[in-house]
Amino acid sequence: PVRVRFAPSPTGNLHVGGARTALFNYLFARSKGGKFVLRIEDTDLERSTKESEEAVLQDLSWLGLDWDEGPGVGGDYGPYRQSERNALYKQYAEKLLESGHVYRCFCSNEELEKMKEIAKLKQLPPVYSGKWAGATDEEVQEELTKGSPFTYRFRVPKEGNLKIVDLIRGEVSWNLDTLGDFVIMRSNGQPVYNFCVTVDDATMAISHVIRAEEHLPNTLRQALIYKALGFQMPFFAHVSLILAPDRSKLSKRHGATSVGQFREMGYLPEGMVNYLALLGWGDGTENEFFSLEQLVEKFSIERVNKSGAIFDNTKLRWMNGQHLRSLPAEELTKLIGTHWQSTGILNESGGVFVEEAIDLLKDGIDLITDSDTALANLLSYPLYSTLASSEGKPVLEDKLTEVAASLLAAYDSSELLCALGEGKAGWQKWVKSFGKSLNRKGKSLFMPLRVLLTGKLHGPDMGASVLLLNRAGNSGIVSPQSG
Ligand code: GLU
Repeated sequence: PVRVRFAPSPTGNLHVGGARTALFNYLFARSKGGKFVLRIEDTDLERSTKESEEAVLQDLSWLGLDWDEGPGVGGDYGPYRQSERNALYKQYAEKLLESGHVYRCFCSNEELEKMKEIAKLKQLPPVYSGKWAGATDEEVQEELTKGSPFTYRFRVPKEGNLKIVDLIRGEVSWNLDTLGDFVIMRSNGQPVYNFCVTVDDATMAISHVIRAEEHLPNTLRQALIYKALGFQMPFFAHVSLILAPDRSKLSKRHGATSVGQFREMGYLPEGMVNYLALLGWGDGTENEFFSLEQLVEKFSIERVNKSGAIFDNTKLRWMNGQHLRSLPAEELTKLIGTHWQSTGILNESGGVFVEEAIDLLKDGIDLITDSDTALANLLSYPLYSTLASSEGKPVLEDKLTEVAASLLAAYDSSELLCALGEGKAGWQKWVKSFGKSLNRKGKSLFMPLRVLLTGKLHGPDMGASVLLLNRAGNSGIVSPQSG
């Protein structure tokens, strides 16, 4: 059975790279009818925090990537935090010691430093010299009796190579002669990262390890440990880096990189998930718009690209807009309405005004937060600066006062308000007869009318805008300070 895992280290926020790794694992599991396991890699006790773990879990949930086993859910292969699995690591370390794959190394730090210096002078790679690899039982016993501290070192074959077939990168092989025997357990009994990961993946029956390319060097060590423990190796798939537009590694200096930042900026989980999936994957057609369900249906690991993917903020924003507009009206109204109320622009989060405003404005926005400016702009009446602009002058020169006088008359006689009370049809009827009375139509009618009624030269559909402004005036939904 397919079992994959996402294994974040809770030392910070979930960034887009991690989120994409989680997504690919999720899609792979769901598309194969397998299990998606979440494991918290908190062996680095100094840098791991509970807050970070909670934030990562929250971001994953927000993206909709729910896990089948792991923190908060449980499962048959727990515990799912490395800090709670020490007994297991210890047990497997002893097993390796018994089988001779691991030996005790009593070298002090000073000795190890000296070894590195000597290797450097001889221009050799800085690997462990193998001093304790061939120690006799007596030599070891002597140190144990003295109570000397020791690490557990893994005995790496001194020659030959190791090969894996990566599902994305094809064959990957390493020469073993430069690796050197590496530590799997420190002298304080703390197991080392690569060892924990291997024991966990094996005992959690992980079938496919899908993770970032930067873990390839770890795969070599982990593969050796798998073999030594007699475990069946999983399939590996190493996903390429996410790059900035200048092809350097994406980092904070390129702007927002964490999922939480994007959420606060007004992105939708649907937009994020879709965009992240396209970072290195495509279904082979022109289509780029996918829901999470559609991604599950289409995803295949063979189609994941092995070259780096460029993170393009403009495209992400555009894609978010596509998802925003395809949300069911009710859902969009709730999202944006709640947002408007929370920012204080409106004093209610729903109702006809909100529904109509969103319907009118949604084509011009990509993010939830864009709706603030869009609504504020709609409600504003910058007549003076409009007329003072170079684009506004011709409208003013085109006998704007003549149109204004008739408009005031229509307003005074309540004719305009009556028409607006009849909605869209009322407005259309009124505009027609208004134009007729002035002998104007087309641009020469609509330009001055738009300027006079909205204060602006451009904007969404004029009739709908005017009807909405009228409603804003009557309903009292707009907070006084934002008018
Ligand atoms: N804990 C590692 C990380 O956050 C992931 C290790 C793995 O996937 O094997 O980068």
